[in-house]
Amino acid sequence: MDGVYTTKSGYRWLMGLEENNEPIKQWSWLWNLQVPQRVVVFLWLVCRSALPTNSMRCQRRATESDICSRCNVMAETILHCLRDCPKAACVWEAFGIISNNEFWIEIDPYEWLYYGVKNYPLLFAATVWWIWKARCGECMAGKVMSLQQTQEAIGLLIDDLLRIFPTNTAATRVTRQVAWISPNEALALVKEEQSHYHRYATVIARIMGKRKHRSKAERELG
Ligand SMILES: [Zn+2]
Repeated sequence: MDGVYTTKSGYRWLMGLEENNEPIKQWSWLWNLQVPQRVVVFLWLVCRSALPTNSMRCQRRATESDICSRCNVMAETILHCLRDCPKAACVWEAFGIISNNEFWIEIDPYEWLYYGVKNYPLLFAATVWWIWKARCGECMAGKVMSLQQTQEAIGLLIDDLLRIFPTNTAATRVTRQVAWISPNEALALVKEEQSHYHRYATVIARIMGKRKHRSKAERELG
């Protein structure tokens, strides 16, 4: 280690992951995720930095500009697209991801996803999936999803995943020993975790109350 202790470096050290500052990429956490195969493949593309964002397409000369088509300000890297673009950031912020969180600092898509899924398995998987779908719908078909629509789609997908994969009930228990959280924050996080899950549980309950037929999210699952 480089002498600077962070929660993440401490975790890596404890887990024997620290070698030349390169984490050993493991995949069981992804393959074992209780989500449809298409979501797993999508997450794998994110981890492999292989998502066809404008940055990647520009590198491959499939497009002339690498600028994000949604904000028209920054290059559309994977993390810009899924996290930093205002169109994505507002979704995370609505779920309570705060601005001084290491969530916003991570620069490696694999690590960002790894720690996110460890902390919030279904919420994280469903959110990156729908942020990407919203991005594609807007950029390719001109269909703009509002924040509320995106949140509801995420809530419906989580609802469906809990129903289709009952073991997810256990998987949704937050594993707090990894990254983004300093030990000193533990007590505060217990409260935050409760309000966090209460927040999307409320969204799901509201939608379930209204819904009379199966959701678009379920149809997406094929
Ligand atoms: Zn953008």
